[in-house]
Amino acid sequence: MNKRKISIIGSTGSIGTQALEVIEKLGDKFEIIALAGGSNTELLEKQAQKFKPEYIYAAKPISVNGVKTLGSLEEICSNKENDIILVACSGKIGLKPTLTAIRNGIDIALANKETLVMAGDIVMSEAKKYGVKILPVDSEHSAIHQCIKDISMVDKLIITASGGPFLHKTIDDIKNATVEEALHHPRWNMGRKITVDSATLMNKGLEIIEAHHLFGFDYDKIDVVIHPQSIVHSAVEYKDGSVVAQLGLPSMHIPIQYAITYPERLEGIKSKSFSFSEIARLDFEKPDFEKFPCVKLAYDAGRTGGTATVCLNAANEEAVFAFLDGKIKLYDIYTVVDKLMSKHKVITSPSIDEIFEVDKEIREQTRQLISAC
Ligand code: NDP
Ligand code: MG
Repeated sequence: MNKRKISIIGSTGSIGTQALEVIEKLGDKFEIIALAGGSNTELLEKQAQKFKPEYIYAAKPISVNGVKTLGSLEEICSNKENDIILVACSGKIGLKPTLTAIRNGIDIALANKETLVMAGDIVMSEAKKYGVKILPVDSEHSAIHQCIKDISMVDKLIITASGGPFLHKTIDDIKNATVEEALHHPRWNMGRKITVDSATLMNKGLEIIEAHHLFGFDYDKIDVVIHPQSIVHSAVEYKDGSVVAQLGLPSMHIPIQYAITYPERLEGIKSKSFSFSEIARLDFEKPDFEKFPCVKLAYDAGRTGGTATVCLNAANEEAVFAFLDGKIKLYDIYTVVDKLMSKHKVITSPSIDEIFEVDKEIREQTRQLISAC
């Protein structure tokens, strides 16, 4: 592989730090143009000293000797020196920088699923217009990407879900779950927001919408199956009945590396060799939409389209923050999102400005609803 120039938005987060581990392991395959983070400037400074990017950006004031500080994420994303940008920040801040990079012809390795949930139609059509690749980092979508050879012959996508920490708990356990219990994911160590989404299974809901946009499949052709061991990362069923799945020990290093080195596969960070006999069993079960109604909300929002998914995302994010702040219970995340969704007047083909307006309005309405609880 020719040396690639890369920038990382969200280098101080769970995906960002693992991406730097991958890049370190790959040695001279990458040159880092810019690293960007939010408020953890101490870590960003350390990363800048070690990886020596040309530029850094942080949401808080920062300065590192020998590295230029930029004033916005847009500045990073409009620098055509970049071959690829890894968008690994969480929440809605990923959307504008992603669009800027696309319009500058820069390929995207996309971890930030909220970008596609909020504006998948616009992002994918701009990517097509500018001839830019959107390479999935999310493990399920990376798995599907790895399984697809001839997309026209794929009948159905099958997304696996670990089921999170409450998989076999009762609905009352879920209703009374503490923040600590919700943050204790059995398989993955991730940022706080996505970990709560994994506990309510809203994460799977967001991933269904993400898959719809990335691969262009109708919602009827995207299935979810619970697979607690997180070994099968997702699968596709071809029209001849053959099912191709991607397996591996749970590690985000693999999908991160596959996205940033695509279409090549290079040697990576491998802690141990894969053994079917050690794993011994792989279980699969139907998701329980009564216990985890957020999945159904996401299917409904996806099928409705337009700003329905903007509403879903904004209400969910605010409700998750309120849960983490101890203001509402875990199950209230669903109740709150459902209320906002049912009264939202959908705009069918929104512009980016309309998307941000709806996002802002829904966040305000969600906070009002929660404070009136
Ligand atoms: P984290 O919360 O661990 O990291 C978020 C990153 O975004 C941090 O680097 C944070 O910086 C940065 N950030 C926050 N605000 C700003 C800002 N204003 N400007 C620039 N950067 C900012 O999240 P994760 O790494 O877990 O997740 C990132 C994205 O990837 C999410 O969209 C998530 O859904 C997705 N994803 C994550 C997976 C995982 O395994 N973690 C798996 C699949 C998808 P700081 O810490 O310095 O404030
Ligand atoms: Mg995932």
